[in-house]
Amino acid sequence: MILGICGGTFDPVHYGHLRPALEVMEALAPAEVAFIPNACPPHRDTPGASSQQRLRMLEAAVAGQSGFYVDRRELDREGTSWTVDTLASLREEYPGRSLCLMLGTDAFAGLPGWHRWRDLLSLAHLVVMQRPGWTLPENRDLERLLGRYRAGDAGELQQQPAGRIWLQNVTALDISATRIRALAAGGRDLRFLLPEGVREIICNEGLYGDTTRPDEC
Ligand code: ATP
Repeated sequence: MILGICGGTFDPVHYGHLRPALEVMEALAPAEVAFIPNACPPHRDTPGASSQQRLRMLEAAVAGQSGFYVDRRELDREGTSWTVDTLASLREEYPGRSLCLMLGTDAFAGLPGWHRWRDLLSLAHLVVMQRPGWTLPENRDLERLLGRYRAGDAGELQQQPAGRIWLQNVTALDISATRIRALAAGGRDLRFLLPEGVREIICNEGLYGDTTRPDEC
């Protein structure tokens, strides 16, 4: 069974993460998806919620969805959460299993800036999900990578454990955690952008400067 790997800060998790992940899981079936929150995001500022809060929000988000689970290995590890280290530890655990690192087009565009990015394909496949406002980058390194490793059919991801790139069409949802944090900071309603269980944690714990009183949550 393919293992999809969805890494991120999830500060907070929202439907722009969950719906594309579900569609990838269905397209690559049989598959399951591990959501792996990072501890020290290498490419961004410190998260607005603590690691434990981000973890609890993710757990609330995936509860009841068969095939989805939360993997806390980056939170349990010391130091920066490099994706290449996470993939290496998953590879050690699952030697022959097909591993698929799932990335939005924005994350894929930034790939050449990642720590040891050229080693990623020896550990996993890459599944690129389109994200509104982003197109595939015109970058020589990424064009070469796509030219060489792009899969013509999703079945190739089942046949070998790593090394192919698959571009997956998903429902375009223009939702970002940045926007959700800004809405929460302004005391605005977050409904229909993320699961209710996640919204309740934000509201009850006053995350992101949410000024809503708990009895209004
Ligand atoms: P922030 O706004 O704080 O940067 P974010 O909403 O981009 O957060 P992350 O946790 O940084 O969320 O993203 C984790 C992964 O999910 C990345 O690969 C990113 O491309 C992907 N992703 C996030 N939002 C979407 C979306 N709306 N559609 C498709 N992919 C998404």
